[in-house]
Amino acid sequence: MLTLPGDAVRQIQWRFADRYDLQMLVQSARGVARGTVAHMVASGERNSHEWTPAKNEMLEAFDRAGITAAFMEPEEGGFISGPKNLALSLAAFELAWVDGGAATASLAGFLALAPIHERGTAEQSCHYKVLSAPPQPGEDRKPWRGAFVLTEPIPYVGVDTGMLSGKVRVSGWRHDEEPWLQVEKRGRFITNIAFANFVTAAVTSDDSRIKGSCVVILEETDEGTFDHGTPTKKLVHQLSSTGDPIFNLKVPASRIVGGYTIKDGVIVPNFNHSEVIEAVFRRTRVAVGLMTAAKLLSAVEPVIRYQRERFRGAESARPGTVRYEQGIQQREDALHRLVDVWATGEAAASLGFATARLFDELDPIEKQKSAILAERGIAGGRAEIKALRESEERAIAFLGMRDGDPRREELAADPLVQFVLKDAVANVLCPATKLWNTGHGANLMREAVSLMGGYGITEDCPGFLASKWMDAQLEATYEGPEAVQRRQLTVTMTSEVFLAELRAWAAEMRRIASTHPGTGACTLATAMRMWLWTLEHLQKATDASGNKLYHGQRQGVTFPLADALCWLLASRQQILDVLELEQRGTSDASVADGLSGTVKFFSDLCHVQAAQAAGEVSRICAELVFGYNEHPLWDEHGCSKCFSSAELDELEETMPGIAAMAKDVIGPNGNHPLKAGPCAGCTGASDFLQLQNKLCSCLSGSRLAKDRAAETVSKVMIPEALDYPA
Ligand SMILES: Cc1cc2nc3c(=O)[nH]c(=O)nc-3n(C[C@H](O)[C@H](O)[C@H](O)COP(=O)(O)OP(=O)(O)OC[C@H]3O[C@@H](n4cnc5c(N)ncnc54)[C@H](O)[C@@H]3O)c2cc1C
Repeated sequence: MLTLPGDAVRQIQWRFADRYDLQMLVQSARGVARGTVAHMVASGERNSHEWTPAKNEMLEAFDRAGITAAFMEPEEGGFISGPKNLALSLAAFELAWVDGGAATASLAGFLALAPIHERGTAEQSCHYKVLSAPPQPGEDRKPWRGAFVLTEPIPYVGVDTGMLSGKVRVSGWRHDEEPWLQVEKRGRFITNIAFANFVTAAVTSDDSRIKGSCVVILEETDEGTFDHGTPTKKLVHQLSSTGDPIFNLKVPASRIVGGYTIKDGVIVPNFNHSEVIEAVFRRTRVAVGLMTAAKLLSAVEPVIRYQRERFRGAESARPGTVRYEQGIQQREDALHRLVDVWATGEAAASLGFATARLFDELDPIEKQKSAILAERGIAGGRAEIKALRESEERAIAFLGMRDGDPRREELAADPLVQFVLKDAVANVLCPATKLWNTGHGANLMREAVSLMGGYGITEDCPGFLASKWMDAQLEATYEGPEAVQRRQLTVTMTSEVFLAELRAWAAEMRRIASTHPGTGACTLATAMRMWLWTLEHLQKATDASGNKLYHGQRQGVTFPLADALCWLLASRQQILDVLELEQRGTSDASVADGLSGTVKFFSDLCHVQAAQAAGEVSRICAELVFGYNEHPLWDEHGCSKCFSSAELDELEETMPGIAAMAKDVIGPNGNHPLKAGPCAGCTGASDFLQLQNKLCSCLSGSRLAKDRAAETVSKVMIPEALDYPA
């Protein structure tokens, strides 16, 4: 690979080569990011907690560039029709390439609208999106800005979103007229709040005439208090606004997101707050995961430049010498660590964009599913779960069918089967993207910073790497920190449909390995089988005290297993994207030229990543499979399973050599080898050990791939100057 991968390569990998609208969006978001935003960061705009005129101008730049309108349908003032998960993710990726706060400032506006878009009535959706769309040429108005208000001051809503203190009461209800509501809500850490004209706030009923909870829309001009609050003294994402607002407002009941019905004199919201936020977060969290992926990939070029130029200017480093030309890149470790950062960035981007695309596919199918079920008189809840059970069985059967099976076509065309399949995967991929990209991504950002030495932790560091490192931690925290994603994975990764998919993916990886052995796909397939074996084992096994291992409360078991799965998912998608590039790249003249070198390098990165993923899975699974067994002691019970030296002497007469094989021998005075106890056995887990053995040898070649990737990193050409100012 001669140069860093360009747009044409990325468009193929992330599957928007045939979407001109998305390519335009990427270009315009990039213009704002590497222009307006980069200048703001370079001139110290992150040093203030306040919402400044410059930060406000950034929002206007988003409007002019079409980033704000990317959320809207054409009839609402937008330019992209249909699902927009990939579009919004691409825009966030471009902005986060330079600054996470800028990306958040744009995403938070969408987050405010998302409850209305996902669960609002048609009127609510159209009204607020039209108001929030940037003005058309010749139109004299300012777009509305919104904020999403869920989190409350401690001790209320944070990770536990069910614990709401925000309240809604009936403030007036005249016969045959719409009821009026009094809404009280205090927010904490609310993005966009300094300038929000409206908010979508989660509240619970404090009135017997309102059932349950809901999300309500509050406007700045409503009667009462709309206090934007003081800015939060953030250490991260300073280009976005965050604060703790206070609301006490009177609003019509028509502001309940999704509307309501009245039953026996009680206002019953059509959606409770949990249903609304579930629909919202499941999509918006994907773009957050992609923000951290952008940071990792954006670090590659500045680090290469720094490493190569490190010794230039020294007397001993004359042009033409290795020291001058290669700098720190003479050293293997520096290159290997950069390969790790790069491979992680690739895997994170592949996982995130695949998830965004999946939601784009899922959105219309979900609507189709709701329409089909509504025709059968089923609308959500338990009835829907029951109704979809048969489709789940069909979906599992579908996954097991061979090509050419006559039933395949029928099931492939069944919208309910396709919904169930995509939904099960999306339920896993979304939290996996948020969890792995941001959590593991933050760790690797530290690595990227360290590669720049002291420079890395200064404001002058090209690529703003230290800010990105710290910002990544916020990405791991907001919209639900890691515990929330792990909790969700714990439930969704055990769905029978998902597990059937994962088994199919393991087989798929083996097939890929037969044609592309250099990608690490075989290693990944073995690691997937190990993960599946471990889950099945843990679901049945108990700990040393006889307590069940796999259940919701036992986070020590379920959470690490969720972490392990994420490694596999990211690595798989990275491999699939390289295959796509290899297949489609030949038909694009701008890519075809250096295609084989790029594919080779990316395959080596896949191999590196697959080996790391396999190592993580092996470590985590081994700890879970064996860690809950008690280690034998040199007590009566433990020693009863050992040979005594006298026994061995006797056996030696009939079985010469047995003494040499025996371990843990108890001597005549009860003396024994100096260690914790007799070695633990592997009853019930010998298959695991076999898999682990296999996995170790599957790692063959992975370090050679790393060496090759490092060699490429040491030679790849980079532009003369960074793509944005330092
Ligand atoms: C800059 C910024 C912007 C934000 N923007 C918004 C916004 O626009 N709108 C909004 O509504 N909110 C916003 N938030 C709030 C954010 O979503 C919350 O901070 C986040 O969800 C975590 O909640 P918490 O701070 O209460 O953490 P806590 O709930 O106190 O969690 C602390 C730690 O304990 C762990 N933990 C908590 N519960 C469990 C559990 N059950 N099991 C295991 N571990 C657990 C967590 O994983 C975490 O590591 C923002 C926050 C920040 C910092």
